Amino acid sequence: MEQNHVPITEFDMTLIADFFGRLPRQGPGSDDATRLALRHIGSLPDSARIADIGCGTGRQTFTLARSTDAQITAVDILPEFVAKLNEHARQEGIASRVAAVEASMEALPFAPESFDLLWSEGAITHIGFERGMREWSRFLKPGGHIAVSEFTWLTPERPAAVDKYAADNGIAPGTIEENILHMDRAGYLPLAHFVLPASCWKTEYYKPMDDVIETFLDDRGHSPAATLFVERLREEAAFYDRYNDYYGYVFYIGRKR
Ligand code: SAM
Repeated sequence: MEQNHVPITEFDMTLIADFFGRLPRQGPGSDDATRLALRHIGSLPDSARIADIGCGTGRQTFTLARSTDAQITAVDILPEFVAKLNEHARQEGIASRVAAVEASMEALPFAPESFDLLWSEGAITHIGFERGMREWSRFLKPGGHIAVSEFTWLTPERPAAVDKYAADNGIAPGTIEENILHMDRAGYLPLAHFVLPASCWKTEYYKPMDDVIETFLDDRGHSPAATLFVERLREEAAFYDRYNDYYGYVFYIGRKR
């Protein structure tokens, strides 16, 4: 990767929201993975409440809504995503059960012990796995569950290019063992974890980008920023093709003690 590498997260937020808002999901994952994580939790209590933190436009929110009877509060920092999710909920006729609010995961507007399940796909990295596990726990009822997917090292050591890639992108992932230890120390009983298959990246995340890139660039008048942004995403997808033995997304499921 060249020296003046610009991480995806450092592009203008309007541009990020515009591009990712066109996609079915904003991070690697799949409906099957969401449902598998939910199965590890088992049945939820009557009138259960779920918080979906860093919901994006809500792909997993709607899978949770279809798979449970719970009341779901989704949270994201980007107003564009919150608006899209709420509009989708209205269209589906489930707005009384599924609502998104604009808030930071670092200052969640929730009462203590108000949720039976905390959900977060591909987003805990924005607060840090250890801190998120620790700070979000207070919103969970005792015995409640947490399920998060997080970018994770799959091997104890990696080629130098992979470590550099993480550093260039400002991320410091943990290994599966480290993350499970963080969960345990934050007061959860780790129940299960699983690595998301490569299809969650290639088919569900990168492939749909191909369908929107040209229109996105046209709409943005092929601006230098938009062009560089797309270039970065293509590099990222190629990097995943080459090095996916070393990193991936892992779903972690636990129960508050
Ligand atoms: N969960 C969605 C999915 O899997 O499709 C979105 C995942 S996307 C990789 C990460 C999400 O976290 C984005 O929607 C982003 O806007 C949101 N996010 C980033 N920082 C945040 C913060 N401080 N508070 C709340 N949401 C945040």
